Amino acid sequence: MLIDFHTHSTASDGALSPSELFSRAVDRGLAALAVTDHDTLAGWEVAQTLQSGGMALVCGVELSCQWGGATIHVVGLNVDANSEGLLGVLNHLQQLRRVRAEKIAAALERLGAVGALAGAQALAGEAAICRPHFAHWLVSEGYMPSVSRAFDKWLGNGKPGDIKTLWPDLADTVAVIAAAGGIPILAHPLKYRFTRTKLRALCDAFSVAGGVALEIVNGRQSESDITQLKRLAKDKNLLVSLGSDFHREWAYGADLGVDIAIAGDASGVWEMIL
Ligand code: AMP
Ligand code: MN
Ligand code: MN
Ligand code: MN
Repeated sequence: MLIDFHTHSTASDGALSPSELFSRAVDRGLAALAVTDHDTLAGWEVAQTLQSGGMALVCGVELSCQWGGATIHVVGLNVDANSEGLLGVLNHLQQLRRVRAEKIAAALERLGAVGALAGAQALAGEAAICRPHFAHWLVSEGYMPSVSRAFDKWLGNGKPGDIKTLWPDLADTVAVIAAAGGIPILAHPLKYRFTRTKLRALCDAFSVAGGVALEIVNGRQSESDITQLKRLAKDKNLLVSLGSDFHREWAYGADLGVDIAIAGDASGVWEMIL
């Protein structure tokens, strides 16, 4: 059975509209799809108006937060889209993104990239600006040869466009998802590049706050990474989740859908949802 509990649409930094994402998932034979845009439910809102031949659509979101001086992403699945607490936080996050985008643009202008804010906003459309919008704009204007170079040189960790934002605390973020009836999932645990000790501490903090699951597959991952994360989930008494983190069709990225067989005997969040 193929499922995908981590995907993006044009409502954040994905390239497919929510309906294109939905259709692609149906075409690929998914049993379940969660739309999990950064800090917004707008993608899911469009997708949920569509019909499917049996594919379950899960209301989701990927929330930006912070812990231990790093930005952490928590996916919330099956959240109540009318939860006042969640809607309040989403509003706040959208505002933080607007302020941050202005600061990123100012930093890029200082580096000579003129018109960065308008350029990124044009690519984002009605969505709040995410760093990939700046990266794609820099490439389209010839300031950078590729998106990955744009992150390496200007937008990534410790670079001028890496504006420190006071994202909400991890614990508050987990709590708001839980209060909205959702399942909090620690997204892509290996992407934070923490030491093993710090990663285990993050899992403990996540668990204590009410976190439920660890994402053991996030896009293309090596067998050994998956094995390591499965073991970590078991040690920390967390369920597991699976997703592609699909943003666009890309030769080096994963397409929609992960086979739940990958989880082996671990308990998956899909057992709570489907
Ligand atoms: P933001 O939430 O605005 O800080 O943007 C984070 C997003 O940027 C992530 O969700 C990824 O989609 C993308 N991203 C982060 N690092 C890289 C990278 N090195 N290369 C390409 N995309 C990246
Ligand atoms: Mn993204
Ligand atoms: Mn993420
Ligand atoms: Mn994501």
